[in-house]
Amino acid sequence: MSRSYYIAGNWKMHKTRAEAAELAKALVAQLKDGKHKYLVAPSFTSLETVGAIVKGTNIRLGAQNMAAEEIGAHTGEVSVLQLKDLGVQTVILGHSERRHNYKEDNALINKKVKLALQHGLEVILCVGELLEEREAGKAESVCETQTVKGLEGVPASELGKIVIAYEPVWAIGTGKTATPEDADAIHAYIRKVVGKLYGDAAAENIIIQYGGSVKAENAAQLMGKENIDGALVGGAALKADTFVPIAKFG
Ligand code: PEP
Repeated sequence: MSRSYYIAGNWKMHKTRAEAAELAKALVAQLKDGKHKYLVAPSFTSLETVGAIVKGTNIRLGAQNMAAEEIGAHTGEVSVLQLKDLGVQTVILGHSERRHNYKEDNALINKKVKLALQHGLEVILCVGELLEEREAGKAESVCETQTVKGLEGVPASELGKIVIAYEPVWAIGTGKTATPEDADAIHAYIRKVVGKLYGDAAAENIIIQYGGSVKAENAAQLMGKENIDGALVGGAALKADTFVPIAKFG
């Protein structure tokens, strides 16, 4: 098994450039001896600033979204070419806030996934069920559909650049965390889905992060589970004091 822990911070629509720079500098200093794989995803406006600070360190530069088109008349969108120009290495796609608040569907997300891969970016593909879907017993089927449709047309040769983040929507920013057992069960299911698509070795190797109110107090328990390979962190990623203990768990 070649999986390693991968801990990512999604800063969402927070921080001016000066604030982002301050956090990035603190993370570079405090994670330089960290054992895991790390990423920060600031707002588009701070990518250049943060990129200059994390360049050459063990922290990757990520974007929180990307346009489905490469170039052209798409007011307000940001292209993969522009992200690459800023040194972005990874893009988060299909985050639940994009799916549910901005109505991104599986077809659009899949288009973005393929475009990002085509340009050599790593993709963190987010999947996860709403509370009503979980209560209706549909958590597995929702995650399966989002995974299968998100990866449609992605060749096995590109799967090494895909990370999946399981983020139950009811646990994002709410303080409610899935129990490690419940999260692990969905992670195992997603791994099985990847296995059906790409075979056992691919399933064994794919990194599946958990996201949803991860904090220092629950990080080790969650990541101690067999199928949980890291975390995509929102709220707790906004301060070094709360992110570093998660990033240095174990
Ligand atoms: C997220 O937005 O990806 C997330 C997991 O947020 P939080 O950690 O705040 O729940």
